[in-house]
Amino acid sequence: MKYCNKCKRIYNDEDLVCENCKNKSKLLPIKDDNTPVNLLTAEGFELKRVQSALEDAGIPNDAELCEHNYSVSAVTGYDQSKYNVLVPYSAYEQAYDICVGIGAIKLDDEQIVDNEENITDNKAISNDEQFEPMSRAKRTTVRVVTALLFLGLVALAVFGTDFIMNLIKGLF
Ligand SMILES: [Zn+2]
Repeated sequence: MKYCNKCKRIYNDEDLVCENCKNKSKLLPIKDDNTPVNLLTAEGFELKRVQSALEDAGIPNDAELCEHNYSVSAVTGYDQSKYNVLVPYSAYEQAYDICVGIGAIKLDDEQIVDNEENITDNKAISNDEQFEPMSRAKRTTVRVVTALLFLGLVALAVFGTDFIMNLIKGLF
């Protein structure tokens, strides 16, 4: 196994440079079991979720801020920066399995909480919702009309009775 000294991603022995880093950092062989390696990249609650799952399993881990995301937290005030979750190389496989288990890593891809994917997910949801409110609105309208009709009948019965009672009282 090899890893990128900059972003700490793991690569196969036949890989030569890091595809993740802009300057295509050279890969180094992993010699030490304690070498921190990049398990995944996460942000916000997903990061917390991954970290607590790792801690539950007794795997030491560290979150390292991704270089290119400083501006986001400065603007929003909320820390939405992406972090690289690092684990010792010796615990990588176990940590990987845990992350697959909690859904933080999808099996067909080593990358998780991919932003692009989240955006397409949101789009799909909003498309569905565009159809939903219309039928929901129609159903609500029907319900409201039915309720109003019912109230009208009740009112008619109540006030009608009053009117008749008054009429009768007026007679005596
Ligand atoms: Zn790299």
